[in-house]
Amino acid sequence: LKNQQLDANGSGSQLFNESLLRRRMDVEFHLRKALSQNEFKLVYQPVVDISTSHVVGLECLLRWNNPHLGQVPPSEFIAIAEESGLIHPIGEWVLREACTQNKKWQEAGLPPMFVAVNLSRKQFNNYLLGRTVATILIETGLAPKYLELEITESLSVDARLATSSLEELKKLGVRIAMDDFGTGYSSLGYLRDFPIDKMKIDKSFIKGIRHRDVNAVIVNAMITMAKQLNLLLVAEGVETEEELQILREYGCRFVQGYYYSKPVESKVIEEMLVHLI
Ligand code: C2E
Ligand code: MG
Ligand code: MG
Ligand code: MG
Repeated sequence: LKNQQLDANGSGSQLFNESLLRRRMDVEFHLRKALSQNEFKLVYQPVVDISTSHVVGLECLLRWNNPHLGQVPPSEFIAIAEESGLIHPIGEWVLREACTQNKKWQEAGLPPMFVAVNLSRKQFNNYLLGRTVATILIETGLAPKYLELEITESLSVDARLATSSLEELKKLGVRIAMDDFGTGYSSLGYLRDFPIDKMKIDKSFIKGIRHRDVNAVIVNAMITMAKQLNLLLVAEGVETEEELQILREYGCRFVQGYYYSKPVESKVIEEMLVHLI
């Protein structure tokens, strides 16, 4: 009762921190059993070539539905998975599931597409990553060129370790994409120092983009830079016809966003793509 009263009345930072901490502990507690209880699933969002309207790839995004907590967004549980070390088994599950699914689609006769998997920086800093990815590719039989790994720029990536993991992954034949490009501290330095194949323009630059506004100038410069560096480029978070039109005019070829499709379950992807067979 005392606690309840405090919670109801208190607005001090002490209490606020306490309830945040409790939520964190709850999430971590349930996260520990989420894999074995089959509480995860992947949803997939198409990456579209706007010159042909074809789906060239699918980004997989993790969803967690827990009987006690309900649907917990990745923006909340990924950080907790990282801090608790659970990101390693969870991340491995995501990789295996995505590769297995993509192989199934290929065997079902869908046009070959890449699957993009988000890696957290903790996975990336793990020297076993290359071996894990290699093993999963062999086990699932997916050709490496159909797997893309998305990394997010971050100050805490150890540059030398990062370069050697990236080189190892590239030797396997998988592609590396830099996610949320433009939002971090060292985007340009990363492009210079790391063997990146693709940049994904962060959705904050796309939202409401209009001719000659600051987003337009920045996005235009990114598109030019990608071309001159021979990098693939995807614009994320395209929601409207107007945004798409501007990107088209600036010569952006690949986009992803609610305009084409939200992330959806594998069955829905099949229904979307089956007419192409
Ligand atoms: P991200 O990799 O940048 O993924 C794109 C996010 O933008 C996804 O949010 C997606 O649902 C959302 N999105 C896509 N199109 C649109 C659009 O047109 N408008 C808007 N407003 N949003 C759009 P989601 O699924 O909540 O994931 C959030 C972040 O969580 C991801 O950002 C990624 O960094 C992380 N994440 C998701 N799944 C995984 C995973 O399996 N492993 C790791 N390490 N991180 C993951
Ligand atoms: Mg991503
Ligand atoms: Mg990401
Ligand atoms: Mg992103």
